[in-house]
Amino acid sequence: MRYSLIFFLLLLTGFAWGQDAHKIHFDAILVDTHNDFLSKAVDDQKVFDTNLKGITHSDLARMFKGGVKVQMFSIFCDDQFGKGSAFKKANQELDSLFAIVARNPKSMQMVYSYGELMKAVKNHRLACMAGVEGGHMIEDNLDYLDSFYRRGVRYMTLTWNNSTSWATSAADESRKAFLVTPYGLTEVGKQVVRKMNDMGMMIDVSHIGEKTFWDAMAITSKPVLASHSSVYALCPFYRNLKDDQIKAIAKNGGVIQVNFYSGFLDSNYFKNINAFLKSHEDERDSLQALHLPPYLIIDYFSKKYTQDFDHMRAPLSLLLDHIDYIVKLVGVDYVGLGSDFDGIESAPQGLDGVEDYPKITEGLLKRGYSEKDIKKILGGNFLRVFKANDKYH
Ligand SMILES: [Zn+2]
Repeated sequence: MRYSLIFFLLLLTGFAWGQDAHKIHFDAILVDTHNDFLSKAVDDQKVFDTNLKGITHSDLARMFKGGVKVQMFSIFCDDQFGKGSAFKKANQELDSLFAIVARNPKSMQMVYSYGELMKAVKNHRLACMAGVEGGHMIEDNLDYLDSFYRRGVRYMTLTWNNSTSWATSAADESRKAFLVTPYGLTEVGKQVVRKMNDMGMMIDVSHIGEKTFWDAMAITSKPVLASHSSVYALCPFYRNLKDDQIKAIAKNGGVIQVNFYSGFLDSNYFKNINAFLKSHEDERDSLQALHLPPYLIIDYFSKKYTQDFDHMRAPLSLLLDHIDYIVKLVGVDYVGLGSDFDGIESAPQGLDGVEDYPKITEGLLKRGYSEKDIKKILGGNFLRVFKANDKYH
């Protein structure tokens, strides 16, 4: 009898906890600053406003199910695109975003300022903005920056994995040969940063090399954004942020939006992937012969060998560890969420797509975070940075 009473009380507490988490989650303004769905729309003809469960991480209905209020869609093309093609490709993705929003005027809205964003949230519409993931898409032409801004781009990652003529990437700076002449941000690069500051386009420090990072931090007049970056101390991958970088972003009043990719959270992930690739050497070699970049080769295997890849997913607790680490290092005001959904082949266990965001709130509540702090992490911190950058707020 007594045991059943204890069991009943435990059940009740658990239920209350779930209720609390649910209320906090759906009251909060949940912002995600990096979703790559537009690449799926343009390259794979996936339609956002249809049911894509089991196919992609995101679709419109699941955004609402997951409580997402603000989505920054990544505009992305890799380094196979350059002068004469990268800007065009970026605009195709923007066109696709406009088309999706135009088809769904009651549930989605492009927003261009902090004020519009808050109004869209109040009207229960998914507030949509874009972020250009890689400075190569301006093709060394500052006028293209103006064009992007007018079309709703509110951040630009100074580089993707490829360096531009004016900024070096983390991938390039991590290569030994490159360290002989690290150039960081050139004079043109500094012009780009100043122009972005003046326009109200956030400087995104994800993907950029350390030299570029410190050069940008020295001149930016506004708080910066790391739209999708995790913690180097917990997972020493070249494009994760080191402690001194995290401290500098906090000092600048910026925000680090933690990336969900298993490979950036869990230092075992790439060891496991490499062992897997070794055991599928012939297949890998035939893909390499087609000159596919490594990230597309891993993507191919992840779709074919779903069970193997399922076992390699990082635990959800590790994502929370990355958030905890930043909070312990610099405080709760400088961390948020930058999922990288639909740009990664592996998200943590339990996070199958955007519908699973509530699990993060549950996890944070269980770790003792207050409602106020959880709301900061889910979006409040980002909104502070966006407002500080937005000249129309
Ligand atoms: Zn990225």
